[in-house]
Amino acid sequence: MKTSELFKKKTVLSFEVFPPKNTTPVESIYSTIDELKGLKPDFISVTYGAGGTSDNATIAICDAIKNKCGIEAAAHLPCINLDRERALHELELMKAAGIENVLALRGDIAPGTEPKHIFEHASDLVSFIKENSGMNVIGACYPETHPESKNMVDEVRHLKEKVDAGCTHLITQLFFNNEDFYEFYEKTRIAGIDVPIEAGIMPVTNTRQIKRMVSITNAGLPKKFVKIMEKYENDPVALRDAGIAYAVSQIVDLIANDVDGIHLYTMNNPYIATKICSAVQSLFAAHEGD
Ligand code: FAD
Repeated sequence: MKTSELFKKKTVLSFEVFPPKNTTPVESIYSTIDELKGLKPDFISVTYGAGGTSDNATIAICDAIKNKCGIEAAAHLPCINLDRERALHELELMKAAGIENVLALRGDIAPGTEPKHIFEHASDLVSFIKENSGMNVIGACYPETHPESKNMVDEVRHLKEKVDAGCTHLITQLFFNNEDFYEFYEKTRIAGIDVPIEAGIMPVTNTRQIKRMVSITNAGLPKKFVKIMEKYENDPVALRDAGIAYAVSQIVDLIANDVDGIHLYTMNNPYIATKICSAVQSLFAAHEGD
């Protein structure tokens, strides 16, 4: 099923997982997926290293999600290091596995590497996918602007180009202040972007993870969030529980404000996903058929 169909009837719940490291067999993630399956997500997306090393893993995991677990899958595809032949090859592999959804991304430029300059922006890949396949295309977006963007006006203008190229829904970068999301959402509507936007929620459960995330994403940290993290930084269990509670509070507020969907960055941790989902299960149920 194309993910675009899902938003017609409900508040969508999706998960993101990443392939195991290159030295670890792909199969090592199957037990994680099996546990996530019990939480009944509408789809699971699988990341893809922009360096291009984990492509087979991404598609193999999507294949397992779709064909072993019976859950819709979306394969991430960053284009910065792709040429047209390679992009076509990836799309063929997806098609062969019955995958219908692709998250078209630019990817980040790794230090010391030179991009291929065939697809400069994600919107170029979106157009290419629409011209060459029947895949449903998803795009990424940034409520606090992408780190390379000059300002929100440029950000939303380029996002509109990406949606016009053929994205049927968008998933946000993680954020910790829902007000940033609501303001961004309003700006997209003013700009004429009318596709659903899923809110990307990352439960932060250790301080090392926070520092890393903030350094790569631009995400602002609200005072109340910093206070919780500082208070429990030396107590891993309390910090984990506080991170889960914070993510739950964000989701409750987002659903109450009629968000189109929640995309949970699971970090391949079914324990945390389970805690969060069981806390908000009835809220998703209440919005079914809206
Ligand atoms: P784009 O949409 O191309 O935007 C990147 C920047 O270029 C923005 O500042 C935009 O405003 C600007 N821009 C766009 N079009 C134009 C134009 N025509 N002219 C000038 N400027 C323009 N990375 C991975 O490597 N693998 C993954 O699996 C992965 N998954 C992700 C999932 C989500 C939900 C998100 C939010 C990000 C993910 N990323 C992943 C990270 C992503 O690749 C980076 O954030 C990357 O820097 C931007 O990708 P994009 O697709 O948003 O790029």
